[in-house]
This record gives sequence, C-alpha cells and structure tokens, in this order.
Amino acid sequence: MLRFVIASSNAGKCVEVGEQAEDFGMVAVSASEIAQELGLAAPPDVVEDADTYVGNAALKAIAYASWCNLPTLADDSGLEVDALSGEPGLYTARYAGPGCTPADNIEKLLKNLSGEKNRKARFCCSLSFSFKESVELEVTSYLEGQIAEAPFGDGGFGYDPVFIPEGYTETLAELKAKRIPVQTHRVKALTDILPSVKSYLEQQF
Ligand code: IMP
Repeated sequence: MLRFVIASSNAGKCVEVGEQAEDFGMVAVSASEIAQELGLAAPPDVVEDADTYVGNAALKAIAYASWCNLPTLADDSGLEVDALSGEPGLYTARYAGPGCTPADNIEKLLKNLSGEKNRKARFCCSLSFSFKESVELEVTSYLEGQIAEAPFGDGGFGYDPVFIPEGYTETLAELKAKRIPVQTHRVKALTDILPSVKSYLEQQF
C-alpha cells in the first residue's frame, strides 16, 4: 500500500487530500490516525513563521515527517484580496485575531470590503512533500474568484461561504454542498504533485 501522512488537523483539508490520493491509488492518512496506529504523542505544534506559503508548508511537512518518520504532505494556503492589497494573505487563518472562528474571519473580511466594488480575490495553495528531514517535492496553485457581498451556503470550510470561483455564480460553500466538482487551488496543486509523490513512494518502498 502506497501511503503518506497529511500534516494537518483541518478535517476539510484531510477529506480533500484523501479523496484525491485515492484517485491516484494512494492512501492519505491523517495525523491523528497515524498517532493512534503508532502510539505517538500529539502531532507537533508548528510555528508558521516563514514569509511564503511554500516556506510554511515545508516547515509543517518536515516537522510532521520527523515526528512520525513517514513521508508527509503539508499544505499552506491563503486568500489574497486585491482591494485589500493582498490581505489576509499569510494571516488568512487568524485574520480576526488569535482563537478566531471562520465566521469571525468572514465578518472581518466583509466589513473591510464594505462598499468596495472590486471584489477580485484568489486562493493560493502550496504543497510540500517531505521525508527524513528533506523537502522532496513542492508545488503552488491558485483559484481566481470574487468575494460575495454576504455568506451563502453551508458546505466546505473556512472562507468557502464568501468565495465565488471564476466561471461560477455561487459560492464554494454552495457548490460543495451540491457536490459540484470545482478545480480548487488545492485540487490543482494535488493534481500536480500526486503523480510525483506516487513515483517517489514506488521507488522508496
Ligand atoms: P492554513 O493553510 O491552515 O494556514 O490556513 C489557511 C486558511 O485559509 C484556512 O484556515 C482557511 O480559512 C483558508 N482557506 C484555505 N483554503 C481554503 C478553501 O479551499 N476554502 C476556504 N477557505 C480556505
């Protein structure tokens, strides 16, 4: 069995990665599953202090790969809004402050965009695949779109209720609730990296 660990505790991300990995004939195991299987303590708490998404993804991938001694895929993602000069960017997850919820982040975003005509934005996703303290593979992909005037839909996670992907009229949360497949930034990045992950695992194991 070709498998790797996902360096994330975000259930939404784990589901997306797991589904894609399965399509490529691999098994993506969550950090909590591997902790239970190997009897490990809690996964490392990684300080994401790099100044790029790909740098933060590498920090997470190396920390988790060292923790469980298995090949590990980490992602770092964010939302860049043109009218806010690229904010929230690297601070997307904690935009509304420490301990904030997705609803808090959405509220702050909509407030900061209140009355703004230019709603153009993009999600970015960087992936880093690491094993034995070395980064083996890296990719970055984007999803262009617009920020909605108000939240719509209850599917997905994070900023999905306010992000309308280019070419669609509904938010990602509405599209995901209807199970309409969208080539998101993470799907694109996974489609790019997973064939190489598979070749790597076939050679190593
Ligand atoms: P991180 O990659 O865990 O550091 O967090 C990035 C943050 O960006 C997440 O917590 C979400 O709030 C947001 N985000 C990233 N990708 C998506 C997505 O596909 N949908 C909605 N929100 C996302």
